[in-house]
Amino acid sequence: MSKESENFKNHCSENNSVESEKRLNFIEQIIEDDLQTEKFDGRVHTRFPPEPNGYLHIGHAKSICLNSGLATRYNGKFNVRFDDTNPTKEDTEYVESIIEDVQWLTGRTFDHIYYASDYFEQFYEYAVDLIKKGKAYVCDLTPEEIRETRGTPTVPGEESPYRNRGVEENLDLFARMRAGEFPDGQKTLRAKIDMASPNFNLRDPIMYRIVHAEHHRTGNQWRIYPMYDWAHGLEDSLERITHSICTLEFEHHRPLYDWFIDQLGVYHPQQIEFARLALNYTVMSKRKLLQLVKENYVNGWDDPRMPTICGLRRRGYTPEAIREFCRRIGVAKFNSMIDFVQLENALRDDLNKRAQRRMAVLRPLKVVIDNYPADQTEWLDAVNNPENEADGTRQVPFSNVIYIEQDDFMEDAPKKYYRLAPGKEVRLRYAYYVVCTNFVKDAAGNITEVHCNYDPATRGGSSPDGRKVQGTIHWVSAEHAVDAEVRLYDRLFTKETPDDPQDPADFKTYLNPQSLEVLNGCKLEPTLKDAAASEPFQFERIGYFALDSRDSSAERIVFNRAVSLRDSWTKQQEK
Ligand code: ATP
Ligand code: MG
Repeated sequence: MSKESENFKNHCSENNSVESEKRLNFIEQIIEDDLQTEKFDGRVHTRFPPEPNGYLHIGHAKSICLNSGLATRYNGKFNVRFDDTNPTKEDTEYVESIIEDVQWLTGRTFDHIYYASDYFEQFYEYAVDLIKKGKAYVCDLTPEEIRETRGTPTVPGEESPYRNRGVEENLDLFARMRAGEFPDGQKTLRAKIDMASPNFNLRDPIMYRIVHAEHHRTGNQWRIYPMYDWAHGLEDSLERITHSICTLEFEHHRPLYDWFIDQLGVYHPQQIEFARLALNYTVMSKRKLLQLVKENYVNGWDDPRMPTICGLRRRGYTPEAIREFCRRIGVAKFNSMIDFVQLENALRDDLNKRAQRRMAVLRPLKVVIDNYPADQTEWLDAVNNPENEADGTRQVPFSNVIYIEQDDFMEDAPKKYYRLAPGKEVRLRYAYYVVCTNFVKDAAGNITEVHCNYDPATRGGSSPDGRKVQGTIHWVSAEHAVDAEVRLYDRLFTKETPDDPQDPADFKTYLNPQSLEVLNGCKLEPTLKDAAASEPFQFERIGYFALDSRDSSAERIVFNRAVSLRDSWTKQQEK
């Protein structure tokens, strides 16, 4: 990039960030207006309402960061509430993972977790109230028959033959549904609204269905379970949520939530819809993610290639980076596709500031420094983080046999190759200048060893005679190196929109066969032996890495690459 265009870009992005600090998004605007008019007595109370039927992914992160962020910004409250109305698809495994992920991402701890299932009795009473008001009825049509009689956008639906049952009969039948007298699917409770409404959601929607299934919290207490649309708005009402923020597809459900609330005459939260996050080169449907796990295309929900929060965490993503990503993409009223690079850049920007630098050689090539004493070790100062002086320095051991990256040596180097080659001099980071004198090949023609001489006057990496070298490479002392396995990840899919509805091919045909590369026998500088699982590092010139929380042990060190570096510092770092 030319200097001018770089300046231009910096100028624009600075302006942008200043602008976005000042400008409110449309949801903040609504909240500030409500605060002005004291609509909710000056309260702000948001929530994140997951269904415990899968692990959270980066799309959920957008909703969590938005809701939690608004509560923080306006000194309000933030609930985590499980929308656990569907016993056959739910599991405590999901409940636990979701709580862990929300705590990790927001940095909050929760005194109380809310559950829709805690309100089942209250929902039942509300339903009885609607029956008594003549606003709900027990219907004997099967779910298929209900679907078939719903009509089309231009043709009104047919009224159910059971629509005009008397209140007493409805109350009796509903109580017997609860008592478990009828098999699954034989009856439903429906709201009595308007079979001719242009909004399908208002054509006598089902409120309760019969399901003889054990619930992960209420056990076998219930034989009827509330439908999502019946329960959802009431959950928000019961918790006195002020702003019920949800994704755009619920816009047409809002009139139904409003209808229930108005008929019952209970507290009325304000629903606001925003566009869900779509990210390229991945899928976010829970059903598809489950398929990848169940059919072993990935190694579990927390596989570092998964867009799940636990996968991103295991890969080395930080909560700060994900929150910053969510801040940068903002909220809008229209759906759009976000580039995966934006997520990676948020991580790079965060880790560039915070990650300590280390030297690690992923594909080692042995280098013997012939004029360096074979029995000597020197401990050299290395800067932990040039972006943060407070991080100080550490010492790295130097000896006569070291490893460098295989691609930092070339037998026949082109003119612009600034790394090691016969007769060429380079700087070993934090150590000395070395010049290549010779190399050894095996029978197959592979280079197995490189020989160099070092210049003792260049200790620390600069020459007193002002002699410049163009390349700086990283290295690890062979005798002191820690062996490790390093896993390099790439995008999970080769296609930007693997689950494009227009594409008849199965999304799995676009799985990237090169999404995981495992390197064994990597050589790390000795301090990395004591790395903690969540501690991010920059392996100089390579990328950002973190210890694998699942597979690493004292005997087996495994690092994951969170993200590569944009550029290597080979040229820019020349001082
Ligand atoms: P399901 O099809 O099972 O309902 P879901 O992705 O909607 O899947 P929920 O557990 O209902 O999962 O989601 C919890 C919350 O996260 C909801 O409020 C939903 O609007 C929000 N959410 C889900 N996916 C995204 C996304 N891609 N972007 C933003 N918010 C999302
Ligand atoms: Mg949902």
